[in-house]
Amino acid sequence: MTRPVRAAIDTRALANNLAVARSRAPAEPLWAVVKADAYGHGAVTAARALVAAGADGLCVASVEEAEALRAGGIDAPILLLEGFFEPAEIPRCAALGLAVVVHAPWQLTALEVARPEWPLTTWVKVDTGMHRIGFHPEEVGPVRDRLRAASAVAGEPGLMTHLARADDRSEPATTNQLRAFDTLEQPGAVSIANSAGILGWPGARRGLLRPGIMLYGVSPFPEEVAGDHGLVPVMTLHSRLIAVRRLAAGDAVGYGGTWTCPEAMPVGVVAIGYGDGYPRHAPSGTPVLVDGVEVPLIGRVSMDMITVDLRGHPAAEPGAPVTLWGDGLPVERVATAAGTIGYELLCGVTRRVPRDSI
Ligand code: PLP
Repeated sequence: MTRPVRAAIDTRALANNLAVARSRAPAEPLWAVVKADAYGHGAVTAARALVAAGADGLCVASVEEAEALRAGGIDAPILLLEGFFEPAEIPRCAALGLAVVVHAPWQLTALEVARPEWPLTTWVKVDTGMHRIGFHPEEVGPVRDRLRAASAVAGEPGLMTHLARADDRSEPATTNQLRAFDTLEQPGAVSIANSAGILGWPGARRGLLRPGIMLYGVSPFPEEVAGDHGLVPVMTLHSRLIAVRRLAAGDAVGYGGTWTCPEAMPVGVVAIGYGDGYPRHAPSGTPVLVDGVEVPLIGRVSMDMITVDLRGHPAAEPGAPVTLWGDGLPVERVATAAGTIGYELLCGVTRRVPRDSI
């Protein structure tokens, strides 16, 4: 029996979710974030589907990610978020047709001395309150002047900021970030909104939109699931029951014997583990679907297997289909149980799990 773990990637769901993002600000350019292998979905597959569905451009986090898209035949515009490039890579960025984010003084110098084959579109990253990377609002004027004059820069630099707490709709910090952004002169393009900005903050829905997680059918808000916004999960992580054990009262299950059968009961063994990206810290009680019936995880997650309590589905047999998350079981629920976020679970699906486009 080959290992039955697979991730189904629903490209129609990507198109649906893109349309939801688009509907919030129909006149604005929408660039889909496909960094980290499109949040674990497969960058080329996702990028192709998103561009076909109308994405105006794509955002990545490294030159290598951009190269992988170009090698996969994607010719849409690409923006290198967060400015991860070496000075020596500027000609490579130009050859790939990348727009780049500029957040640090060394990048200004690099763009002043570089002589790429053609100049690059740039975006000035402004730190309006995330306090991670970017220029202070007071530095933006001189930064922009230097970029306008730099040999490697084409046209007017855009102005970009990133929201730190947009996933909390009651958070005044977001209003403060938007206010700080609006104190700046905006002669060129602007970009503010990630998924939470698009869905939750009308004041952020302008300029180039940069949705990521919502395109993959996951809510950016901790207390809501994708369906609340008309989003459809794109990845469904599937496996099968590989054994059904009839254990006795008092039998301890798995490494460390952390879960003990309270009575004679059926226990299912599923081929999935942290070697596939299933979270090792998922506690007993984390939901799993067997034949579409929800049952709880029990005992520790091991590298290749988990165990589930089948008392709620005693008829389940080896070979039964299992869903770890996706269609029928929002990844948000699994993430909450495991004390993490959907982003981490999706990005963490490992290379040994085949992705099937459906
Ligand atoms: N913009 C930037 C600068 C980012 O770093 C990210 C992702 O981390 C996004 C947009 C997309 O964010 P989300 O996936 O929350 O929509």
